[in-house]
Amino acid sequence: MARIRDDLQALSGYHSPQVDVPVRLNTNEAPFAPPESFAQEVSRRLGAVDWNRYPDRRAESLRRRLAEIHEVPPEWIAVANGSNEVLQNILLAFGGPNREAVVFEPGYQMHAQIARNTGTPVHTVARDSGLLIDPQSAREAMGRAPAGVVFATSPNNPTGLCEPRTTVETMVEAAVDHVIVIDEAYVQFASTDLLDLVRPGSPVIVTRTFSKTWGLAGLRLGYAIADPEIVEALELVCLPYHVDSLKQIAGEVALGHVAAMDARVKETVAERERIRAGLVSLGLAVVPSEANFLLFETGECPAGELWSALVDRGVLVRDCSGWPGLAGRLRVTVGSPVENDAFLSALEEVLT
Ligand code: PMP
Repeated sequence: MARIRDDLQALSGYHSPQVDVPVRLNTNEAPFAPPESFAQEVSRRLGAVDWNRYPDRRAESLRRRLAEIHEVPPEWIAVANGSNEVLQNILLAFGGPNREAVVFEPGYQMHAQIARNTGTPVHTVARDSGLLIDPQSAREAMGRAPAGVVFATSPNNPTGLCEPRTTVETMVEAAVDHVIVIDEAYVQFASTDLLDLVRPGSPVIVTRTFSKTWGLAGLRLGYAIADPEIVEALELVCLPYHVDSLKQIAGEVALGHVAAMDARVKETVAERERIRAGLVSLGLAVVPSEANFLLFETGECPAGELWSALVDRGVLVRDCSGWPGLAGRLRVTVGSPVENDAFLSALEEVLT
């Protein structure tokens, strides 16, 4: 048998344990499918595709629509198969040996995992006691290597906290040959975003996804917004025709349903606040999330025991208690009102 690369041998892949239960609130997906008219319009437009031809290599039409929505030029947009692939392309172009990926823990574990896959050494920095990035530690970490990729996630997963603008501004000042990725996978659920930090000549790359707000995790579509030179670098490393015809059409059609999506976001945010109130009324400490999930402390009940007791009652949440800095905590994704009721009543039953 061929031996896997030495530097990958010790790694285990990223998995959220899947258990077959009726209420799955562990992977931050949207609880709603896109509107019926979305599926109808996609089917209609697929009839006109020349399937024997490669797709538009530059996904011009989709990028134009995204550019219109974000009020930036189309040359500022790069698309890929989910924001994870966007992140991989960023690391292929700006990471690699002799450079460093700087990640902050607790955070989205795939940043470090994709960095390692691309042969980029990872430097991990602990977040401060408030679970935010300490700007001074970020500056010091960036000083270790003159080039690389720095990851700020806002709102962060698994905390749901937004990073202050001044933190990213400090990173921009400290950048030599670094790019600064602001992973905004959950930003539509938040009260602020940092897109305006993408400017001509700026090292900031904002990444977004269709997987959360748009209810299209099954589509695998994400994008980056950045200075055109950065976008060109991302195009250099991606495989030819990597975004297929179906995805380009479905993405474009989804962007025609902004109002329906906004209504779903409002509902999710209202449900998030209802769950938060429910957790607080059970005496549990909750991080004030701006995303579609909530990180909470399990109090006197050990997190692992509570996780199992919820599974026994048909509710799956994410056990984060083994992650650095997150002892005694679980993360619950905001589901449909019925799913959220099931979670809250299972929790109440276990704890009282
Ligand atoms: N960034 C963050 C912070 C995430 O939590 C996720 C999904 N779990 C992603 C990116 C990846 O999303 P996508 O489905 O677009 O690959």
